[in-house]
Amino acid sequence: MTLAESVCTIQKNIERAQKNSALSSPHITLLAASKGQGEGAIREAIETGIRHFGENRVQEAQEKWPALKAAFPELRLHLIGPLQTNKVKTALALFDVIQTLDRPRLADAIAAELARAPRQLECFIQVNVGEESQKAGVSPGEAGELAEYCRGLGLKLAGLMCIPPLDKPPAPYFAMLRQMAQAYGLGGLSMGMSDDYEAAVRMGATCVRLGRGLFGPRP
Ligand SMILES: *Cc1c(COP(=O)(O)O)cnc(C)c1O
Repeated sequence: MTLAESVCTIQKNIERAQKNSALSSPHITLLAASKGQGEGAIREAIETGIRHFGENRVQEAQEKWPALKAAFPELRLHLIGPLQTNKVKTALALFDVIQTLDRPRLADAIAAELARAPRQLECFIQVNVGEESQKAGVSPGEAGELAEYCRGLGLKLAGLMCIPPLDKPPAPYFAMLRQMAQAYGLGGLSMGMSDDYEAAVRMGATCVRLGRGLFGPRP
């Protein structure tokens, strides 16, 4: 399958999942997780109409994206991997959306950098829905408090993001993230990857993040 064919199939699957569920969102962002992908594959994805891209590592993004962003100013770059406070300045110069905000000290560092260099930035709070010790994200019990804290700092909170446990059915975790977002008055739900995006769409995802399903196996 070419990338254009994959995008077409995925969009059809998303539409079908939307139609099949009363909980689905009418507007869904298809985000291309482009970690490990070179400029050629990314340009091909841009040609198919994709405008949102996600990178996991600040340094890799810094090598790949300044030229692409200059060439395509409408692109929106999301950070979907962990962010260390000492990389906040570099990250905020490049990313439009931080999907992995998961602790008060990181919120402090982001707010301080925005005060120094104001710009449009949206944040998602990453929730460790499976409470897995090896995974990033705030624990579900502390997410509401973190959302309040971020609001107090004046950060623009778009919603919640999660990566459910690999070895369990994802739907209950998607449902949990949905309930939490409702409880905290947040509209955005970034959930669903190549293997489970249809289940996520049925549960109300507003952003699905696909890597392998779009680009094929990672190089
Ligand atoms: C890599 C990655 C994805 C995409 O994963 P695939 O399984 O390749 O679709 C989505 N979200 C995050 C946070 C990722 O790191």
